Amino acid sequence: MQIILADTIFSDGTILRDHGIVFDKTIIEVSPNDKLRERYGEQCVELGEGSVVVPGLINSHVHLEFSANRSTLTYGEFMPWLSSVIASRNDLINECDNKCITYAIETMLQHGITAFGAVSSYGFDLEPCAKAPQKVVYFNELIGSDPQMADALYSDFQERLFASQEIDRIGFYPSIAIHSPYSVHRILIQKALTYASKKKLRVTAHLLESTAEREWLDRNSGSFAPFFQNFLKQTKAANTAEEFLGYFRETPTLFTHAVHASEEELSMIAEGNHTLIHCPISNRLLGNGVLDLTRLSDKEIRFVCGTDGLSSNYTLDLFEEMKIALFIHPNDDLLKLAHRLWQSVTADAAEALKLNCGKISPTFDADFLVMRIEYPINEQLPIHLITQAHTIESIYIYGDKIQ
Ligand SMILES: [Zn+2]
Repeated sequence: MQIILADTIFSDGTILRDHGIVFDKTIIEVSPNDKLRERYGEQCVELGEGSVVVPGLINSHVHLEFSANRSTLTYGEFMPWLSSVIASRNDLINECDNKCITYAIETMLQHGITAFGAVSSYGFDLEPCAKAPQKVVYFNELIGSDPQMADALYSDFQERLFASQEIDRIGFYPSIAIHSPYSVHRILIQKALTYASKKKLRVTAHLLESTAEREWLDRNSGSFAPFFQNFLKQTKAANTAEEFLGYFRETPTLFTHAVHASEEELSMIAEGNHTLIHCPISNRLLGNGVLDLTRLSDKEIRFVCGTDGLSSNYTLDLFEEMKIALFIHPNDDLLKLAHRLWQSVTADAAEALKLNCGKISPTFDADFLVMRIEYPINEQLPIHLITQAHTIESIYIYGDKIQ
């Protein structure tokens, strides 16, 4: 059992001054420092002035296999980006060996990310993810819109999924990613979702990221049309957005982007108790626009903030992602938005990914960060923690000080 006494604990929307934590693998108690000093005396570790303890951050959406990208991919618009991915995919994947993936995982840790959801297209990131110090929700991705190829693609997916299910370590969760409405055939989606519900696996999917996708799903036209015609000899979208969302009715899912979702689709997302993953930097770099957070709160849809991969970001840092989000949504109340963003990378992300962390509260896993700041603390702390310089002094996962 360990006891740390902090200047401030900021968790689940609450700022507690002069409080400490009693913990082993999980959090046992959160109480005023005076009370803990009285009870535990010299066992207490005093963190001192300017110490702020926050839950470890959770990055719900990252593609580690593309971590070699710096300037290879074309930014600005979705279709040129996608074409550049297809042209350079093999090179990027080959350039990113275990060392490169481990470096990306380590970088996330340095930025205070103690849990992440990794979308794996090829399974090349399995070993580094299995060895990561963080909690990992490992999303094996299913892709394939051509019915002729369905069986082969499904068995490739299954092979990767089964390999991830062989990993036996606490905090590693084999899961399923359905690539997107335009890229996966209905039969494959339904097969995978049936398996997910039987095995109680977590599920994620990309959804309505670009205007090109919107046009293709709605009218089988736009800049996706020549792309599908040339690469896959397809003239019709694999699913409409409504059909796609319909398959997930019984499976609460984390849908990434959804920048171009309609009112009806947002209603389906709300009814299905789904979560949206908001990746503001990726959306900006690929020219996809800005997710309207007001429409989400009107429908009580939960959103979580994610970095996406280095294929559409320059860093895997949720502090940077929150900062960009603060500025990309200029009409939202600043302090309220800062609070929402903090929830989105801690308590809400944990709930969506079904992880027992994200809050500094009894029975939750002791996954937290000790930050050090050099300015007076007030009720606007959530803003300052995002915008001001900070140091992450130590990182705890399952109560172990790993840094
Ligand atoms: Zn993605």
